[in-house]
Amino acid sequence: LARYRVAMIGSGAWASAVVRIIAQNCTSKDDPADEFVDEVRMWVYEEDYEGKKLTEVINTTHENPRYFPGYSLGANVTAVPSIEEAAKDADLLVFCAPHQFMHGICKQLAGKVKPGAAAISLTKGMRVRPEGPQLISQMVRRMLGIDCAVLMGPNIATDIAKEQLSEAVIGYEIIDTARIFRKLFRRPYFKISLLPDPVGAEMCGTLKNIVALGAGMVDGLDLGPNSKATVMRRGLIEMRSFSKALYPTVRDETFLECCGMGDLIATCYGGRNRLVAQAWTKAAVEGKAQSFESLEAELLKGQKLQGVLTSNEVQEILKVRKWEQDYPLFTTINRIINGQLSPTYITDYEAGASLVL
Ligand code: NAD
Ligand code: 13P
Repeated sequence: LARYRVAMIGSGAWASAVVRIIAQNCTSKDDPADEFVDEVRMWVYEEDYEGKKLTEVINTTHENPRYFPGYSLGANVTAVPSIEEAAKDADLLVFCAPHQFMHGICKQLAGKVKPGAAAISLTKGMRVRPEGPQLISQMVRRMLGIDCAVLMGPNIATDIAKEQLSEAVIGYEIIDTARIFRKLFRRPYFKISLLPDPVGAEMCGTLKNIVALGAGMVDGLDLGPNSKATVMRRGLIEMRSFSKALYPTVRDETFLECCGMGDLIATCYGGRNRLVAQAWTKAAVEGKAQSFESLEAELLKGQKLQGVLTSNEVQEILKVRKWEQDYPLFTTINRIINGQLSPTYITDYEAGASLVL
């Protein structure tokens, strides 16, 4: 019987936490039916790490000290600097790179993946083109010609690495693909359910990063849980309304799943977007303004912020469609991060959005 060969395309914090899970599920102890090839290839965007190539360090130590220090990925993970080589012969492709790099990644892989392969995207973000928005799963499907599910949920990488109880959904179009991926990802502490609303799940993962910036602003202003809850609740409403306005098939119930409300809570309390927005807001109100780029570099050390780009991408759509007034929280957050409004407007987002600038 043919076995599935798996490739991870990405090597950041979440990609590393997930490749560790996959590697465990591909070893004979956790794969008694022998459905998966033991070796898992991971494409690593090559860089130097303390005078050596990062791929060499990973292949020698089985750790990714640059993005995921302190955890063994598994001896059956092979770091590969060539994306084509990593993806070659893979039956199951797991995409987990920051969303701004996904178009370049798909271009490099177009025409090079195994016919009949299936993919899943763990990336949270979207692309905005002159013709309109494109979800990352749609990009994979169109550019690579293969099925692409999504995995979304409240999944802070380090908590999962510590094997703390977490959950995620696999949003799918083809249930057989979803079932295979569920076997690849589930662990006793990582519960996976299947959701037939892939677009809704991916929109949740994308849009919660904007709301997390608002939560970080609330924290940066030293406000309490009531204020954060107000921003989060409004955020969930705008996430749902925007998703349904763009994609009418999206289901209301999806926003109460772990990919919706669950991820919103985790990210607004413990995520990187919240952390950087908090520091940015503190600096701004103290009159020592810093850019998001410099704080991203200082606080995340190479990891990438998705919310600022996503806010600008979503705002482009809101402007073109003349929807800005219908999304006062998204609009106010965007105006704040672009320096058009003071961060204090986060507590009066209706006014922030209605001001004529
Ligand atoms: P990360 O932010 O920790 O790391 C950044 C990655 O980008 C590194 O692997 C780096 O090598 C790579 N990179 C840098 N420049 C590049 C380039 N020019 N081309 C291609 N790659 C480049 O990454 P992550 O945490 O694995 O995030 C990937 C996706 O997963 C994001 O969309 C994120 O929102 C999502 N996500 C993250 C978490 C988390 O806790 N970290 C949880 C759930 C989902
Ligand atoms: P941040 O990128 O804000 O850390 O969010 C991580 C995440 O998506 C948790 O589910």
